Amino acid sequence: MIHGLARDTGQSGVGWEKDKKKPQVLHLTSPDAPGGHLSWTPEIKPCDFDYLRIIGKGSFGKVLLARHKETTKYYAVKVLQKKIILKKKEQKHIMAERSVLMKNIKHPFLVGLHYSFQTTDKLYFVLDYVNGGELFYHLQRERIFLEPRARFYAAEIASALGYLHSLHIVYRDLKPENILLDSQGHIVLTDFGLCKEGLEPNGTTTTFCGTPEYLAPEVLQKQAYDRTVDWWCLGSVLYEMLYGLPPFYSRNTAEMYSNILHKAPVLKPNVSNAGRDLLEGLLQKDRTKRLGGKDDFLELKYHSFFSPINWEDLMAKKITPPFVPSVSGPTDLRHFDPEFTHLPVSSSLCTDTLTVTSSVKEAAGAFPGFSYGPPAEHSFM
Ligand code: AMP
Repeated sequence: MIHGLARDTGQSGVGWEKDKKKPQVLHLTSPDAPGGHLSWTPEIKPCDFDYLRIIGKGSFGKVLLARHKETTKYYAVKVLQKKIILKKKEQKHIMAERSVLMKNIKHPFLVGLHYSFQTTDKLYFVLDYVNGGELFYHLQRERIFLEPRARFYAAEIASALGYLHSLHIVYRDLKPENILLDSQGHIVLTDFGLCKEGLEPNGTTTTFCGTPEYLAPEVLQKQAYDRTVDWWCLGSVLYEMLYGLPPFYSRNTAEMYSNILHKAPVLKPNVSNAGRDLLEGLLQKDRTKRLGGKDDFLELKYHSFFSPINWEDLMAKKITPPFVPSVSGPTDLRHFDPEFTHLPVSSSLCTDTLTVTSSVKEAAGAFPGFSYGPPAEHSFM
């Protein structure tokens, strides 16, 4: 069970009610952490950071490059607006994300979360800062990747997905903008489980925000889905890396949906037999027959396409990445879209006094127990 100030007192947003000058920024170590028990960690608050630039945008808010004032370390801070989350009725997903984070996820190819905290109107996630650019930014420049390079990325992504599955987490939302490269050229998946654009129950195709290219047939049809949905998405990503376009792509969205549901992927012979066999297995429309349907990641791990990969070395980051993004340092933002980096940074991110309108008040109590601090070794100190 998650304990937080709000829950302890049985009141919502009580930290705020008690002391209107202070945002609610109390932290707990994860009770699920090894040897973990409830203990307070030093208070982290929005003003502990300098917010330098906006580096990305999602449906609920922004991602900023921030520097911790005391340690001068750089982080990506994702700031979500509670009001927007509530309006979109997404707080369940966000809270689910928080509980995912409480599981103390740690994997070389998943973004690390250092802290989460909240003020009355915003949720903050303090994440590893990853500045090698989105994988697909590089793909667009080169049109396709040669097989060894695509294999390396697919293997790192697959190992991250397999790890999440072992924790009973389905990523579900694998898509280009969530696949980043770090400065050395390794994959970092962001946004794991943080459902920023959930599928609404009774919507039409337009309720799928973002790019629909990678939607699995069962998701498109609003049927029940399981972890095999991630293997479909990986198949779509690998297909795009090898062929330069998503597997069922059409400019006409209705036609693309129809292709996803009914058409077999076109597998031209410029990709090796092993590669085509893997794609066919992952892009199997019937999820019960899909590669990974039985033994999950193990089925991919032992597929012939991945036979050149030494998985132990991969996990230890001992395989030299096939491409190293050129970045001169943390403040080198060349791989971020100038559309974001040129935007002004709002001064309201660092605030100790907030105006409490009724909608802010409503939002304040909607995320009880959200705040999170990692076990001591991750702390800023
Ligand atoms: P998201 O809402 O997680 O999809 O983030 C929106 C955009 O912000 C992403 O497409 C990335 O370009 C960027 N972004 C997200 N997380 C990070 C991170 N940890 N480091 C650097 N950039 C990030």
